[in-house]
Amino acid sequence: MAINVAKSIEGSFYTFCETFPLDKSILDGRLGEITSQCVVEGSYVTEGSNVHIESRAKFTILFQCDRCLTEVVRDFDIRYIGSYYLDGTEASEGYIPYFNDMVDISKGVSAEVLLRLPSRILCKQDCKGICQKCGIDLNEGKCDCEVVTEASSSTKNNPFSVLQDINNSTGGADNGSTEG
Ligand SMILES: [Zn+2]
Ligand SMILES: [Zn+2]
Repeated sequence: MAINVAKSIEGSFYTFCETFPLDKSILDGRLGEITSQCVVEGSYVTEGSNVHIESRAKFTILFQCDRCLTEVVRDFDIRYIGSYYLDGTEASEGYIPYFNDMVDISKGVSAEVLLRLPSRILCKQDCKGICQKCGIDLNEGKCDCEVVTEASSSTKNNPFSVLQDINNSTGGADNGSTEG
């Protein structure tokens, strides 16, 4: 995505708007699907041969909740600001080179998008997720295979704790030879 600044007049602001498909690779392991094109709109102004750009990238991703796999639609509006210098001229700190009147902001926008995408998507803060055993959505109902809480499984009052002790003390002897 390159902006042609050949005919721009120094100090005047110009707008641009470009649409392009986002690569699925930006999901980077997250569960989801890119459901819109990426629209980048913004403005630029030149200062000598330097070009200053301000833009916003807008797009939508249909994620799946990390815990319960419910669909979660997120709209993004990500701001990118960059300053560019003409290759071959003196560069100011933090400026990015451009070539032949064409200022390519793709890399800058992509980097900003990657930075802003949340690493974890939840349908809601306290999503209870899915039961590992029966697969029920624990946000919608309970199941019988729910894990026993720490307090109630205390070994002190558990009659089977004796058996556990026996298993532990006799288990060691034979184990080594039967493995593999
Ligand atoms: Zn969820
Ligand atoms: Zn269950």
